[in-house]
Amino acid sequence: MRHDIAIVGGGLLGRLLAWRASLSGLGVVLYEAKDRIGNGATAWVAGGMVTPQAEAVDAEPELVAMGRRSLSLWPEWLRALPAPVHYNADGTLLVWQRADAGEARRFEALLKARDPLASFQRLDAQQIAAQEPALSERFHEALYLPGEANVDNRQLLSALADALDETGVECHWNRHVDDAEQPDASIVIDCRGKSAKSRWKELRGVRGEIVRLHAPGVELRHMIRLLHPRSSVYLISRPNGNLVVGATTIESDDASPISVRGALELLSVAYSVLPELAEARIVEMNSDCRPALPDNRPAIRYSPAARRMEVNGLYRHGFLLSPAVVEEVLAVLPQLLKNPHHELGASPRWPSLGTREEALACH
Ligand SMILES: Cc1cc2nc3c(=O)[nH]c(=O)nc-3n(C[C@H](O)[C@H](O)[C@H](O)COP(=O)(O)OP(=O)(O)OC[C@H]3O[C@@H](n4cnc5c(N)ncnc54)[C@H](O)[C@@H]3O)c2cc1C
Repeated sequence: MRHDIAIVGGGLLGRLLAWRASLSGLGVVLYEAKDRIGNGATAWVAGGMVTPQAEAVDAEPELVAMGRRSLSLWPEWLRALPAPVHYNADGTLLVWQRADAGEARRFEALLKARDPLASFQRLDAQQIAAQEPALSERFHEALYLPGEANVDNRQLLSALADALDETGVECHWNRHVDDAEQPDASIVIDCRGKSAKSRWKELRGVRGEIVRLHAPGVELRHMIRLLHPRSSVYLISRPNGNLVVGATTIESDDASPISVRGALELLSVAYSVLPELAEARIVEMNSDCRPALPDNRPAIRYSPAARRMEVNGLYRHGFLLSPAVVEEVLAVLPQLLKNPHHELGASPRWPSLGTREEALACH
């Protein structure tokens, strides 16, 4: 049987798209170079934060709006998965050392200027202790960004693999698809993340390093981010006493193991925020490259001649943006399946996604 779509790359975007496309009634085949648990994906290494407000300071309003859309989709989508996925939407607490109060004021001003829907609260020491007992007497001020979320990335990848089985997606795990191959389907969708560079020349890697700790007894209700002029490190509690400390952001295609500098930066921030982490156990140190386009925004491009779509450039925002991006792809697919020679124009909702010129530049 000829499938409607063949998806190459079953990381975060590929799995999510395959599942939602199948739920919408399309026949889907998925090819993933690595295991079904998802350990070949950048999404396996990631922190899983869905924090549109915290990102508003560095990202354009349209991306923030897409992040908000994703934030509203995640709970519903996660509920529809066949296995539970840890999701915490109790918001972000931004904290800082006294010497960095200027950085906090700058962050607050930028947030107000860039995000008209920004809703945050300034907390004093007492309020911090009430909101986040683990931080009691550690910080004199904080900014609370309610509603922001994080999703357990590894549980998500596994639950998505189960969902693909449930909805009848034909999955080929451990199946690397070469550039020269054209899987048999009406439309092929390339979701290879950083590995798509051979076709999309402007893609680059942005290295990120992350540490996973086991710290039973240290439980955080919120995501904690330490504001600092030179780094942006966050701490996220995960079930069973686990804690994620991420992430560095380095302009480099180098996905080799974590550097001493990266490990020191992440661990010293973690220790300065929560000194009781001194006795935590380091379970994993990891690194990978985020797939980024020159403007650090995601893009969809389509070549009518090749009947090939490429969706990429999720950068630091895979979990923040992928539901909104998937929704967009599903909105244009019916038209393209009816007429594969149709040209993909700019999206009315997210104008920066997908243009004909980009599609032509692709081949
Ligand atoms: C340290 C770190 C922390 C991060 N934290 C966050 C965060 O908190 N929040 C957030 O929103 N984002 C975060 N990200 C970014 C996020 O992980 C990425 O944006 C996201 O994973 C990109 O998704 P993707 O599906 O495009 O690529 P991937 O997740 O990398 O998936 C691509 C898949 O394609 C497969 N593949 C490659 N080549 C082939 C081939 N030839 N044939 C078949 N399959 C192939 C790969 O095996 C892989 O499974 C973080 C990234 C890093 C590195």
